[in-house]
Amino acid sequence: MSDLFARHRAVMPNWLSIYYDEPIEIVRGKGNRVVDAEGHTYLDFFAGILTNMIGYDVPEVREAVERQLSTGVVHTSTVYLLRGQVELAEKIARLSGIENAKVFFTNSGTEANETALLLATYARKSDQVLAMRQSYHGRSFGALSVTSNRSWKNNALSPLNVHFLHGADRHLPQFRGLSDAEYIDVCVADLRHVLATAVSNDVAALIAEPIQGVGGFTMAPDGLFKAYKEVLDEEGILFISDEVQTGWGRTGSAFFGIQNHGMTPDMMTFAKGLGNGFAVGGVVARGDLMDGPHAIGLATFGGNPISMAAANATLDYVLDHDLQSRAAVTGEILLGGLREAKDRLPIVGDVRGKGLMFALELVDPATGAPAPALAGRFMEETKKLGLLAGKGGLYGNVLRMAPPLTLTDDEAREGLGIIVTALETINEEVGR
Ligand code: PMP
Repeated sequence: MSDLFARHRAVMPNWLSIYYDEPIEIVRGKGNRVVDAEGHTYLDFFAGILTNMIGYDVPEVREAVERQLSTGVVHTSTVYLLRGQVELAEKIARLSGIENAKVFFTNSGTEANETALLLATYARKSDQVLAMRQSYHGRSFGALSVTSNRSWKNNALSPLNVHFLHGADRHLPQFRGLSDAEYIDVCVADLRHVLATAVSNDVAALIAEPIQGVGGFTMAPDGLFKAYKEVLDEEGILFISDEVQTGWGRTGSAFFGIQNHGMTPDMMTFAKGLGNGFAVGGVVARGDLMDGPHAIGLATFGGNPISMAAANATLDYVLDHDLQSRAAVTGEILLGGLREAKDRLPIVGDVRGKGLMFALELVDPATGAPAPALAGRFMEETKKLGLLAGKGGLYGNVLRMAPPLTLTDDEAREGLGIIVTALETINEEVGR
């Protein structure tokens, strides 16, 4: 155990999961690569769990932050006007497609979801909320109560009355063999059943991730959420799309993940990539919900000048360089290559994703059962070959990858080469 790791274990909680047998300390970053304390360079396919959306040491972001620092104003308060907030809110409101949209800034995705749930429960005067099975929305009380992923939830008490829906679990045995349309019909019938039987009064909202992040990049088929929204609209139930992982063009085919479903939600929450490493999150919502009679959300540092400078520069970069289109191209290189590899590597049970958000599921080739140990092997092997990936899924056998949107075609091919080499090595070991 390295000295730093031993000190970490001594003074930090042991439930913090630290990757790799020999954990790495990242000390430098440039472009889409990072360097550890021992001088090893890695292509970053996890990018701080999607926070470094446009890579490392981006001059436009650095200069914007330095310019703000040079004014001497690191923070004042939300009780004064801040130009960066207004400018960023205008951009996000426009991009959201939500009518008369208004934006509130927070420091994290958890705070963003907490705020959205507050707004929805105030507006609808109800503590009843719908969420998706396998979901993850953060670890404050409200966000945890709509999280159904047991590995993160433990025994926390819930301040909300929550019912969990199907929609991101097509892989379950009972749904195998159904077409997308048939699966959507089953899910809509389930939603109607929940609304008719399980709920004692009006429901405030449904909160959903368009592609489940921590859940292992499981996906609802395109169109499912539109079908849900039509049912919810009949009763005025609000739709909150958690775009913490899927926003800003990452899926390639839409700017916000939910737009892949051909619908506009009532609210979206966002965080992670927007500040390219600086802490920023928020909610964009219909103006009448944001300005509702009891609505309030406060966070001292939410929308602070430094984060606003970073976020404005990052969002401008994404738009100016049309990184959504880039994600579609590099995502196809990776997903196409991995689908091809799956056909000849029996340890790969599934390849899924959209744009630059893609996952591999590793299984025991004999039984098809989830193989978390093989996922562990993959992490070590790719680290050795110079690539950082992420782990997840309900059974710990899903490898999650979400490189910066600035990934070049050559880097996509390089990363694909490393991933396939690692899979081949492990596949051979298992076959022996
Ligand atoms: N929602 C989703 C979909 C997430 O993936 C996460 C973080 N993994 C959160 C919310 C919580 O965000 P944060 O960690 O910034 O509080």
